Amino acid sequence: MKETRSTCPYCGVGCGVVIESDGDRITGVRGDPRHPANFGRLCTKGSTLHLTATAPVTRHARLLQPMRREHRGGRPQPVTWDQALGFASDTFARIIGEHGPDAVGFYVSGQLLTEDYYVFNKLAKGLVGTNNIDSNSRLCMSSAVAAYQLALGADAPPACYDDVDQADCIFIAGSNTAWAHPVLFRRIEDARTANPRLKIVCCDPRRTETAAAADLHLALLPGTDVMLFNGMLHVMLWEGWVRQDFIAAHTTGFDELKAQVRDCTPDVVAQVCGISKEDLLTAARLFATSAATLSLYCQGLNQSTSGTAKNAALINLHLASGQIGKPGAGPFSLTGQPNAMGGREVGGMASLLSAHRNLANAEHRAEVAALWGLPGVPDRPGKTAVEMFQAAADGEIKALWIACTNPAQSMPGQATVRRALERAELVVVQEAFATTATCDRADLLLPATTWGEKTGTVTNSERRISRVRPAVPAPGQARHDWAVAVDFARRLEARLRPGRPTLFPYDADAGCAGAESIWNEHRASTRGRDLDITGMSYALIESAPQQWPMPAAASAGTARLYQDGRFATGDGRARFVAVAWQPVAEPREARYPFSLTTGRLRDQWHGMSRSGTVGRLFGHVPEPAVEMHPQDLARRGLREGDLVHVTSRRGSIVLPVQASDEVAPSQAFLAMHWGPEFLGGQSGAGQPLAGVNALTTAAFCPQSKQPELKHAAVKILKA
Ligand code: SF4
Repeated sequence: MKETRSTCPYCGVGCGVVIESDGDRITGVRGDPRHPANFGRLCTKGSTLHLTATAPVTRHARLLQPMRREHRGGRPQPVTWDQALGFASDTFARIIGEHGPDAVGFYVSGQLLTEDYYVFNKLAKGLVGTNNIDSNSRLCMSSAVAAYQLALGADAPPACYDDVDQADCIFIAGSNTAWAHPVLFRRIEDARTANPRLKIVCCDPRRTETAAAADLHLALLPGTDVMLFNGMLHVMLWEGWVRQDFIAAHTTGFDELKAQVRDCTPDVVAQVCGISKEDLLTAARLFATSAATLSLYCQGLNQSTSGTAKNAALINLHLASGQIGKPGAGPFSLTGQPNAMGGREVGGMASLLSAHRNLANAEHRAEVAALWGLPGVPDRPGKTAVEMFQAAADGEIKALWIACTNPAQSMPGQATVRRALERAELVVVQEAFATTATCDRADLLLPATTWGEKTGTVTNSERRISRVRPAVPAPGQARHDWAVAVDFARRLEARLRPGRPTLFPYDADAGCAGAESIWNEHRASTRGRDLDITGMSYALIESAPQQWPMPAAASAGTARLYQDGRFATGDGRARFVAVAWQPVAEPREARYPFSLTTGRLRDQWHGMSRSGTVGRLFGHVPEPAVEMHPQDLARRGLREGDLVHVTSRRGSIVLPVQASDEVAPSQAFLAMHWGPEFLGGQSGAGQPLAGVNALTTAAFCPQSKQPELKHAAVKILKA
């Protein structure tokens, strides 16, 4: 039996795994006791990973050779790699020649490895000359990014998992950690056992498993987080709990923020948020006066039209109470995907450049151009996720390259996404699984390797970079994502810059060595930046995963940021961001009287292309249902199990109803995973739509461009 140390491909906890194989076939998996993210633990999803590689259904689900559809709606036919990439590069070159570089777009994924991301980013920005590259991480972390940059000067979570063990208050906002980041939640439970002083506060409209375990559950109304956080600051000021010495020495902008929260009195907060004044006071006291307060937050803050404001308002509390830059304290965003962090590190989004450089900064653009040996990189802002599909639906983007993600299920505004995929002249889908809704709409399907086969690196929520390593060979004709991008890029550059040295000097057939050469180029690009990783080699992180920054001279990574009181801003001071509460994009009203929230199940992952292959993972929740409060069922004459139409302004789906006192009256909950194979639906135009996101809105935060997947107004009627 062969053992291979690697990393779990699901959530941002980034647990280390040991893959057992017979050389050709994965036979088992267990937690890696040496990995500092999990010390051997795995959750249900992680511990069944080997089954996702060997389940009979997986063999039918895998895409194993390049396929091309001559006509939309037709059956895809096998083609060679040469034919597939020749066709793709001919079509991209023609479209770029006729319409310019912004007529193409790349939509990638927080499940790609850092090396994959690096090549795609260089392909778009360096070779094609467009910033039209964005990621499903836009749906996940971009509000956290925008707020870190605004308040602290860099996209860098300041805290680490060790802080869980050292906190006296853990403030969880918009995160069902128990289900979405289970191994981290086990660590919280251990910390509570070890430290009886530890208090847990949970802010969530639903009484989730996390909320039920908390000492204080603030069941605020959906979308009212900014008012809650501003109200907590109001109370801290009134009670004299703010740290004036810290504010004076390390921050700017507090007077403006004080003026902003003056009217956020407990009476106002109680009314807007739907919580009691006593609970508000308790939350503010625990946050400000505990010896160390760590906040953990996720999509409940991020997936919102006020996403950046929610994140910034929470960071304000840390700065005002001095709960940052010390053990057990700090604002700590939990990453939804395994490598949303790594994607941002290489600049693989429409608004970023390599190594956390800023697209809007001319010096940064010049630095990236020099690194790549180019005269310049484009300064035109690229299209972010929602904007990219809108532009394709409008005919502005004519070719879409989609890698390792399933927008025909996971994006909000599904009618627009469907129009985009229909109207684009060319849709390329690079995927491991042939069963996603987006595959059904591709002109070209390119088989990719996946977990257990891939090689590269990922960065977890605490900035820790780990190796992902192959235990078995690639099946069929599947290739690594970076290798596909390199092969395509070389063919395209032969047309766009003939006779010039290649921008992609990596050996696409060299496996680990090829990936390592990309990693080393990325490493060099971080020199002197906030995330400097020039001290990390593949050999080092293979034996001991490290947290960035780790410059060449360092002997180890950096567990915690800003311990010296200097932040990543120009003047070294953190910035208070004065933000006002804004209601959700679509408040409930008489015709749509329910607030629908969406979220994860414990044992499923995203669109289920991987987790849905394992029968055991349906044991927790076997089928889709919309959860409603028992009072609402009774008022509408519904009984558990009845089929209901759930209808928003964008579409309608039919599914059973389930009574749940986890949701408050006038609210409803639906898991995000259920796609078209589970949930049929119709838009107003009669187009078939894909699952839950037939209902959600594409309205997005003006700063982060992250859509409000967490709230839609719906009506629920018996079918
Ligand atoms: Fe994988 Fe996340 Fe579970 Fe760890 S907690 S085993 S990273 S899904």
